Amino acid sequence: MVKYDMTREEREDKSRRIREKGEATRLRHASMRPLTVELKLDLKCLNNAERNKLFLFFAECRWLCNHLLGLSNDMFRGFDTRTRCITSLDKDGNTVQRELTMPAKFIQTVYTSLKQDMASLAAKRRKTGKRNGKLKFRSSYDSIELNQYGDTHWICFGPSGNKHGKYKNTIHIVGIKRLIRTFGMEQIPAGAEYANAKLVKKPSGIYLMLTCYIQKHEDSTESETKPDLGIDFGIKTAITTSDGEKYDISVRESERLKGLQRKLARQKKGSRGWYSTKLLIRREYEKLANRRRAKANQVYHDIVTGRKLVVMQYENIKGWHKGLFGKEVQSSALGTLRRKLMSNPDVLVIDRFFPSTKMCPICGHMHESIALSDRIFACPICGYTEDRDVKSAKTLLLAGKHEIACRCPGQTPTPVERMSGFDASYEGHGSVLR
Ligand SMILES: [Zn+2]
Repeated sequence: MVKYDMTREEREDKSRRIREKGEATRLRHASMRPLTVELKLDLKCLNNAERNKLFLFFAECRWLCNHLLGLSNDMFRGFDTRTRCITSLDKDGNTVQRELTMPAKFIQTVYTSLKQDMASLAAKRRKTGKRNGKLKFRSSYDSIELNQYGDTHWICFGPSGNKHGKYKNTIHIVGIKRLIRTFGMEQIPAGAEYANAKLVKKPSGIYLMLTCYIQKHEDSTESETKPDLGIDFGIKTAITTSDGEKYDISVRESERLKGLQRKLARQKKGSRGWYSTKLLIRREYEKLANRRRAKANQVYHDIVTGRKLVVMQYENIKGWHKGLFGKEVQSSALGTLRRKLMSNPDVLVIDRFFPSTKMCPICGHMHESIALSDRIFACPICGYTEDRDVKSAKTLLLAGKHEIACRCPGQTPTPVERMSGFDASYEGHGSVLR
């Protein structure tokens, strides 16, 4: 129970200690590297009651969230997180009284995260001066914040010398008495410091996304340096590098997914079978998303590791969705990859107006008549011939080097720099987006 008999001094002293400890932790973590590991909970080790309880947490969070969103401003601000009795709507739209049984910690985190969301909405509104609506009611609540390691969740190591492995790979989650076996514990590196986590409900099960902090190691052994690279985002082969390498990063929908969708179409909507097919489809989509993410990570690693400079062009992928190539863009990991690249400080992003397809990297001639169907670039002035995408990547690399050269004088000018009239148009577009 909450202690009500604390004096004012005691309370201030307590909150000061908490604050100091939190600051020390933040300071320590600032010098470390955060890493999130995904641990799958083995729901088979729980009994029915415990499993239902775990799923009920998500439902109760949803009820509470929607209850809070329905309150007036003053009522919301003055909401007491000790409240256990709330009103909510059932699936037919009738008002029902709900009794919350989940841990008090969850009530607090749902409330504080909503407060944060509202504050950031209001901040955005102040900044842009536009009305930006309000938070919508949730149809699902899939991610519960576990904000304090050792309190809301912890990994059980058990007493030393425990031979039977009772505690092996188990975690404790607040509200569930039994220790829960998890998969994926081997991802956690030795010496990691555990921090907050999220309990996430996915179609394939329940996961604990645990944040760890690990020591930064500055070993230069693994970094064999590779030459600088230009990359061109195409539509046909997705990505072409100036080394002539092509990556196809599209991930196709599986045959199983197509089959399941056909099955769903035949079934009676709302029937038992329909719901179970629907769940299988959602699982397939989750797998597809995982494959996409894996592919993006792999290509990103290939491109970036060991390079001092990578040059890419800002491409309007959002625009592609609307155009002809929507399906192909959607089935690839392009968006994820681009976001990862753009957030890397070693990647130089060139303005999208830069004519990377038209310009010859040797003589700087603008080949205006090149069409989207021409796969080979042939320069009418110097006779330079190259695959169209590889050439684009090479031109981008030169343009990127030119950018760098402009920043540090004394470096050799590139063909792009030598080209007359180029600088004016180039600067005019505000060359680098960053
Ligand atoms: Zn040329």
